[in-house]
Amino acid sequence: MLLPLGLLWAALSLGSCFPLQRAPTRSKLLLVSFDGFRWNYDQDVDTPNLDTMAAEGVKAKYMTPAFVTLTSPCHFTLLTGRYLENHGVIHNMWFDTKTGVKLPYYTTQGISSWWDNGSLPIWITAQRQASVAPPPAHTLHTPSHAATLQEKLQASHDPQWPRVLSLPVNGLKTGSIHFPGTKAKYQGEEVYKKMVEPALFNYSNETNWRQSIDTVMEWFTADNLDFITLYFGEPDSSGHKFGPESTQRKAMIEQVDRTVGYLRQRIRESGLESKLNLIITSDHGMETVIKTNEIVIRTVSNFTFKDLDFELLDYGPNGLLVPKEGKLEHVYSVLKNAHPNLHVYKKEEFPKRFHYANHSRITPLLLYSDPGYVIHGRYKVQFNKGEHGFDNEAMNMKTIFRAVGPAFRKGLEVEPFESVNVYALLCELLGISPEPHDGSLEVTKPMLRDPAEPTEPTGPTEPTEPTEPTEPIGPTKPGGNGSGSLHPAKELPLMLGLALVLGCWGGIF
Ligand SMILES: [Zn+2]
Repeated sequence: MLLPLGLLWAALSLGSCFPLQRAPTRSKLLLVSFDGFRWNYDQDVDTPNLDTMAAEGVKAKYMTPAFVTLTSPCHFTLLTGRYLENHGVIHNMWFDTKTGVKLPYYTTQGISSWWDNGSLPIWITAQRQASVAPPPAHTLHTPSHAATLQEKLQASHDPQWPRVLSLPVNGLKTGSIHFPGTKAKYQGEEVYKKMVEPALFNYSNETNWRQSIDTVMEWFTADNLDFITLYFGEPDSSGHKFGPESTQRKAMIEQVDRTVGYLRQRIRESGLESKLNLIITSDHGMETVIKTNEIVIRTVSNFTFKDLDFELLDYGPNGLLVPKEGKLEHVYSVLKNAHPNLHVYKKEEFPKRFHYANHSRITPLLLYSDPGYVIHGRYKVQFNKGEHGFDNEAMNMKTIFRAVGPAFRKGLEVEPFESVNVYALLCELLGISPEPHDGSLEVTKPMLRDPAEPTEPTGPTEPTEPTEPTEPIGPTKPGGNGSGSLHPAKELPLMLGLALVLGCWGGIF
């Protein structure tokens, strides 16, 4: 958007006496997710860098994820502000109840129709919106600055303004590295710059993590991106494999903490400290798997898989079933009291507090199990020591939320809140108008500095008036979506084949 904006301002200053106001510099925004970071993982490990960030910014006591507490659904809630039944990404796996085909996490990342079903992720919304003169991102007044360029131009009474409507209007520039949902297209649009991991990818490599951070800094500085999402697959993998109480998980938290230190150091070295808001959060927590008195659907008396048209089981504590015609009542009644830690519901009777079942992709019968218990189907194929997917009210499913930057107060710990509220905060920080969502900006407002406050009670004084010139005007690349794709998307048939050859769900997300 900078080029047409620059032309616009140049034209106005030369050709009219319209009083020009200098556009305040918009802060950039980096959203980081460390997958499966349980809310209290920093309480049994030394985390000096996370502690420093909390002292210099905002920390929530914990954050409540959406249900089901799975990776792709919960990340899409961060990106859209909607519960699963409203954004439609109801599982990590794409599935078709008619054919019985189920695709693993990684393959599902590339199936746009699974993601693009009515709710726009914030990348696309940001790319569509340009604001002429965004106020400081930490302003508390909404939605006065949330109008699009078009709306602002239409609101103007100057007769010269309508002429610029024919100029191309580009929105904010966004990027994403490995974040769930990055690979998909939404209404034909995609993230401007993206890195998508290959099918066989080591999500734990610390050197890779630092390279990703270096890439983010380059995108913010050389490419002048406004908003980037960055995803790390840990400590989820360690929590699954070794259990949330293991020494391996604790060592991984130390790696995460080193990475936070590296990230903040690179932000300083890149000259972004005073103009970048950083949010570090996650999708869900982790629970130790109970290996006694297990739930095994195959062994339930009077139950047979022959009564089902479709099943999605063996995925932690969640199950989706489609009984054959006329068999729903029977399957429901035999499973209903089969195990004291198994909960079986008809779709329309599923507890409303989960905001999960009211979607066309949800099957007529739903199963979920108590914390620690996973649901085995025909065979025992689940051997993880840690698992998630459980009730989002269980404390071990709660996750983290931390933020630091020019928009945020310093040294503030806020009360817990639901992850559906993060989206409105992201939109506020970017100065864009949100799509319909299930959260509220009111929830996160107490984190934000009031721009009227000259200084903070603690910490260094912020410069009150930006003195640097407006951002350099560089060539924009409208429609240049593919140019930043470092790992070209693979064809679906290839991935499906690979998934079948591997014979697994392709990971432990
Ligand atoms: Zn996850």
